[in-house]
Amino acid sequence: MNLQKITEILATEPAYRLKQVKRAVFVDLISNWSQVTNLALALREKLNAECSLVIDGQLVQGQADNNVQKAILILADGLKIETVLMRHKTGRQTVCVSSQVGCALACAFCATGQNGFKRNLSADEIVEQVLFFQRVLKKENCRVNNVVFMGMGEPLLNYDAVLAAIKTINDPLALGIGMRHISVSTVGIIENIKKLAAEDLQINLALSLHAPNDELRSKIMPINKKFALNEVLKVMDFYASQTNRRVMLEYIMIKDFNDQPEQAQELVGLIKKSFKAENQKLVFVNLIVYNPTGIFKPATDSVIKEFHDYLMQEGIDATIRFRFGNDINAACGQLVYGKNNLD
Ligand code: SAH
Repeated sequence: MNLQKITEILATEPAYRLKQVKRAVFVDLISNWSQVTNLALALREKLNAECSLVIDGQLVQGQADNNVQKAILILADGLKIETVLMRHKTGRQTVCVSSQVGCALACAFCATGQNGFKRNLSADEIVEQVLFFQRVLKKENCRVNNVVFMGMGEPLLNYDAVLAAIKTINDPLALGIGMRHISVSTVGIIENIKKLAAEDLQINLALSLHAPNDELRSKIMPINKKFALNEVLKVMDFYASQTNRRVMLEYIMIKDFNDQPEQAQELVGLIKKSFKAENQKLVFVNLIVYNPTGIFKPATDSVIKEFHDYLMQEGIDATIRFRFGNDINAACGQLVYGKNNLD
């Protein structure tokens, strides 16, 4: 799909045409222009020739987890990306989109980074991931209602495309998903968090924190050597002040690495030191059950619970995110470019 091209082709048409066409693509979910019968035949043919709506992808169905579906999409240049649909018991449908092919950050716990970086995705390639699942869900009379930028890649290292994709995902004439139902997760690219705060978008921002001090964080996240933790948290505090939105701190629980009472204490201290008192109520910690991808072991359930309870007792809001999509390698940090499924 090439939204820009579609807009250019329709430039000579009356303005309402673009609206009709967006509706056809994003609401009626057509995959062939011949379905838009209110367009002249020649225009339909031109659009089919120059702006194909085919999304080349394949669904991978989990067995134990029917509530998670992974799709592998094949891009125009043959590269593959993965995208995940999570069906929550509450009836919400969340799509977890990738923002890059691979990832340059090489976090020690994450499978995506271990394969290196190929390229940024375009805004349309990001939007297509949501569209792909919107088409799947249409058959069940359902729609995507949440989008999280938590798939492959670092969204804030592909800022312009991610921002443009967010706008299309939110556009009432396109996917119409509310800003408050869109979340971006980042390792903490300081300049771009500042930029994002200035956009005044009302989206949710999550920081992949994973450790309560620089020494520990640098061991698992090489990017920490570039952006020190206190600077990153300062800018998260700024984001909270600017937007008054809740900010999520993601913390993967790794056995005997960052899961001890000592680290829980340090984390509480870090949050209290980094966020202004009035912003502390906007902060919540999401403790993530580590999906094994290599060298580390997951923390035990009882240790995670203790860690969680300690944070709560200290007045820091915390939740535990359980495994989702483990059996099809669709869980956090397990996405690689189609490696284990199509090659
Ligand atoms: N680069 C961004 C976007 C990816 S989000 C970021 O790091 O925030 C993917 C989320 O899954 C991040 O919080 C990441 O730290 C987490 N993750 C990565 N590997 C994981 C693993 N093996 N188990 C659980 N979570 C993991």
